[in-house]
Amino acid sequence: MRSGIKIIAGPCSAESRQQVLDTAKALAGLGVDVFRAGVWKPRTRPGMFEGVGAKGLQWLEDVRNETGMEVCCEVATPEHLNQALDSGIDILWVGARTTADPFAVQALADEIKRIPSSSVSGTADGNQKTSRVSMEDLVVMVKNPINPDVELWAGAVERFKNAGVKDIWLVHRGFSSYDTGIYRNLPLWHIPIEMKRRFPEIPLFCDPSHMGGKQQLIAPISQQALDLMYDGLMIECHCNPDQALSDKTQQVTPLQLEKILNQLQIRENVQDQQSLESFRSRIDSLDESLFRILSERMEVSRRIGQYKQQRNMPVLQSKRYSEIVENRSDLAESIGLDREFAKSLMEIIHKESVKVQLDQRNPKD
Ligand code: PEP
Ligand code: MN
Repeated sequence: MRSGIKIIAGPCSAESRQQVLDTAKALAGLGVDVFRAGVWKPRTRPGMFEGVGAKGLQWLEDVRNETGMEVCCEVATPEHLNQALDSGIDILWVGARTTADPFAVQALADEIKRIPSSSVSGTADGNQKTSRVSMEDLVVMVKNPINPDVELWAGAVERFKNAGVKDIWLVHRGFSSYDTGIYRNLPLWHIPIEMKRRFPEIPLFCDPSHMGGKQQLIAPISQQALDLMYDGLMIECHCNPDQALSDKTQQVTPLQLEKILNQLQIRENVQDQQSLESFRSRIDSLDESLFRILSERMEVSRRIGQYKQQRNMPVLQSKRYSEIVENRSDLAESIGLDREFAKSLMEIIHKESVKVQLDQRNPKD
């Protein structure tokens, strides 16, 4: 593997100087680009390990000095931001819970705006002071919001762009849901793909650790991300995962990480790219047929609407609707499609047909 893929790795949380340094030295040996560790941990429930706080920043600084790796940590408030930058943290990351809160994101963006371009740090009371990171070098990673809302994610990017941050990276860590199946957070790959469409210049990372929630899922999720041409991976790695104070089931040892990275394949040869293009054009033309058929179906539905209206029949015939959903789900299943998918699709199509028929009865103008 390697070749152009950026790897960010390190523990979920900084727990002690020894744990941070032991993990970092092993990771530097693997050629990891950026070392991560949270010092302020946003925990869903109170009473869990909430991080060591600002004292952990010094350990990250030690990592930087002793290994040469860049270091990053999560910031959620202007105070965190200032403390992190004063300690020479190279890259800041905005966590999933923070991205979901426009007030918190704006507060961070406003704090960045107050910083003169030659020095990034300011203090909460408004006095400027010099920092080791300049505005030109500032990198802000924006994790996806916990809820599957592309606008919130895009909104956070825009707030940082408007504040003058030139280097923004996206981190896809999956989305909360009541039912997440095998995942801790649902991937919903179409959301980061939409972000890439909107912000093609912004590098996209995948965080398979928070997405999968378990060690065994890190390799397959990472491979999927590379197949989708992601620019890098953020992987939680701890020198002793069994003893980790947070997210222990999803952290791997540096040795395990090395094995995972060695197995990953980068799809970048021209042959692959060409067959990808031909698959894409087939998809384009299938989508076109799909929409033509939908338009034809809608036309028939319009005629049915006129028929019902002339005979004073109600638009919604629930018996017919249930039969359609059942029957189409059977049909879909018999040709290898997922039953639930067919059901949801029929629901959307039927909803639109009902809307078309109702609009016919009550024209707006
Ligand atoms: C983390 O990276 O440790 C973290 C808390 O991430 P997220 O905001 O994705 O939950
Ligand atoms: Mn974590």
